[in-house]
Amino acid sequence: MSRLSTASQVAVPPVIELSGVSRTFGSEPPVHALREVSFVVEQGEWVAIVGRSGSGKSTLLNIIGLLDVPTAGTYQFNGMETGALNDFSRSGIRGRNIGFVFQSFHLLSFRSVLENVMVAELYNRTPRAGRRARAMDALTRVGLADRAQFLPTRLSGGQRQRVAVARALVCRPQLLLCDEPTGNLDSETTEEIIDLFGDLAADGMTIVVITHDDAIARRAQRVVRMVDGMVTAAFREPRSNDHLWGVTAQ
Ligand code: ADP
Ligand code: MG
Repeated sequence: MSRLSTASQVAVPPVIELSGVSRTFGSEPPVHALREVSFVVEQGEWVAIVGRSGSGKSTLLNIIGLLDVPTAGTYQFNGMETGALNDFSRSGIRGRNIGFVFQSFHLLSFRSVLENVMVAELYNRTPRAGRRARAMDALTRVGLADRAQFLPTRLSGGQRQRVAVARALVCRPQLLLCDEPTGNLDSETTEEIIDLFGDLAADGMTIVVITHDDAIARRAQRVVRMVDGMVTAAFREPRSNDHLWGVTAQ
């Protein structure tokens, strides 16, 4: 029987597959920011990465986001080996497939919320036509359509971060990468962002979030802990719907 004879046997490659990835900075002395990390994220997973400051979380996220390259090891994105790609190809994949959200919202203060979201497409090769409508769709998705004409300075911290999420979503990424997205927010507004991630995950978005926040780690499907450049453990309380995701508690 052919391997591809039924739909269930057609393998969808993981979105992220790191094998023995190391990243070393400098030489006098070298800083081993990542040490032989092997890490797989399947399509539709929501993963939290936790760990102390300096443990290599941002370095890992930068490599996953094709902003940086490993010193050793391999990275396959959607089953494609990324090691041989040039900068142009890497930024193309980034623009089409990956959205980023950082701790600082990086919004333009003198531009409306809508314009701040539209800006994301300037770096992409999407057609001009429909740009405003696509930005409005993204704002609707984060629950801020009614704030489209506001300046960011008139929004709360949680709302500003939701604008940043909308900006990350406007190019319809397959993967959302977030580095301490609630680091500047109080616990109440953090809840707002976590709920938003929950909604996006329910819609099938693949999400990797670096966080110090236990509340986020609790809501993610899987938690990965980094210690000293290594992924040391993945844990999470089992959930009743785990069978839907093929998740196994570790
Ligand atoms: P985290 O995000 O967990 O706080 P990072 O990934 O930012 O950790 O950093 C991991 C280690 O790598 C730290 O020791 C940090 O100082 C070092 N590092 C990160 N980026 C650079 C760089 N561009 N040059 C030199 N060292 C770096
Ligand atoms: Mg960091």
